[in-house]
Amino acid sequence: MKKNIMLIDDKVSIAKVVAVYLSKDYNFTYFENPVKAISYLEKGELPDLIISDIRMPEMMGSDFLYYLKKNELFKSIPVIMLSSEDSTTERIELLEAGAADYILKPFNPMELKVRIKKVLGD
Ligand SMILES: [Mg+2]
Repeated sequence: MKKNIMLIDDKVSIAKVVAVYLSKDYNFTYFENPVKAISYLEKGELPDLIISDIRMPEMMGSDFLYYLKKNELFKSIPVIMLSSEDSTTERIELLEAGAADYILKPFNPMELKVRIKKVLGD
């Protein structure tokens, strides 16, 4: 059975690229902001993995990560963060806050796929 991946990014173009590469191996749910993703999660729709952008207008991906990691129901879902800025400080902060991985944009979709596999233990 295909595992479920949730992607949150305010840029639809990113979602399209990721969907092309992942939809063969994974079920794929996309939201353009964390607020919508949270209402989906609160309905009990728990993905196997979340990939989240960091810089988004409605809610920062870092705040979304903190929300997930503080919530008993969601804290075990691995989260891969996508960053548009190569910041060591940010990377350390997010990994410490519980992010499973941190990938710099633009990324090679093959690299994302490999990292997803590692995080999921496949
Ligand atoms: Mg963004």
